[in-house]
Amino acid sequence: MRFYMDYNASAPINNNALELMIEVYKYIGNPSSIHTSGRKVRAFLEDAREKIGIILDNSSQNIIFTSGATEANALAFKLSHKPSVIISSIEHPSVLNQSKGADLIKVLENGIICLEDLEKILQKQKDVDKLVSVMAVNNETGIIQPLKEVSRICKKYSALLHVDAVQAFGRIPITMSKLEIDLLAISSHKIGGPKGAGCLLYSDRIKNKLIPLIKGGGQEKGLRAGTEAVAQIAGFGKAAELIKDVKFNEIEFSRDLLEQFIKNNIKGVEIIGENSPRVSNTSLLSFKGLSAKKLVISLDLEGYEVSSGSACSSGKVTDSHVLMAMGLDRNTVQGAIRISLCEPILKKDIDKFVETLQNIIFRLMDREKNKV
Ligand code: PMP
Repeated sequence: MRFYMDYNASAPINNNALELMIEVYKYIGNPSSIHTSGRKVRAFLEDAREKIGIILDNSSQNIIFTSGATEANALAFKLSHKPSVIISSIEHPSVLNQSKGADLIKVLENGIICLEDLEKILQKQKDVDKLVSVMAVNNETGIIQPLKEVSRICKKYSALLHVDAVQAFGRIPITMSKLEIDLLAISSHKIGGPKGAGCLLYSDRIKNKLIPLIKGGGQEKGLRAGTEAVAQIAGFGKAAELIKDVKFNEIEFSRDLLEQFIKNNIKGVEIIGENSPRVSNTSLLSFKGLSAKKLVISLDLEGYEVSSGSACSSGKVTDSHVLMAMGLDRNTVQGAIRISLCEPILKKDIDKFVETLQNIIFRLMDREKNKV
């Protein structure tokens, strides 16, 4: 039996989304064609746009479908008036790598961005157009960022606000209009939709300011050329509609129980962000002095799929810029694993997991000792 505990990397596909996708694949026609087949396919696209617009309280007219949140984030920074960019230091690489030389907002030890620092940076940048980028929820720690306050500060200094809401969508309430967000990116595969779809939502203030990353035909209002991946997008829309059915309250109960058992049974464990507001499914645990990579591999051999707290791409693990920015020491950073639950877990399964983790830790500690 395998336990997939890596929701934040990619959520399991929602069956209704999958069924809809299979249906959509059977339709012929290009959504840009004006004949009946084309219009039938376009209807799926517009239905998804409508659903996502309603959930995030943004005009469905102002939504551009993309290949995922990486592309949506990249598009968000392609603004014709080239504003000065201010980015939180804990952003996902798809944001951090968009603007070389951007001002970075510091993060506090508790994983929450420093609002005073944001204000200080904005005060210095008088008489220039500004774009602030702060994620709603951090993917590694699950810590929720104070968007209301960020938005208030942005308004005070007339700065545009971009939000990477990938890890927040469906898990915490987000309304673009209330929070006065100008640009917001979400991803399909983090909410039970297929991989390879995402979108950028934008406010009326952004209208006519975006420059396409991909030029060609006039799809997506000329902002993203190429025939839309209609089946994926339909699945994305369905998953967005159904994310409200995920039992995040029950998942939170399991996450809290899991953390309690780990604390009771494994000495020296640190739960990163334990006292900060966090999304309900995420737990970032550090076993100082141990290697997260070895922990992840050992757990995988026992059937538990978790991820390393450090940034991991193409199998290569590097120190997490998020945890380093929070001022954690390298041993803590390198010993961090992330558990992100997809569904509630039974108590007996939590017991078994903790027992397995405990045995792995004893084994790894023994090996470390014997090395000396
Ligand atoms: N932002 C955040 C916070 C993420 O967690 C991810 C996915 N790891 C992305 C952006 C990129 O999303 P996608 O996989 O759709 O490109």
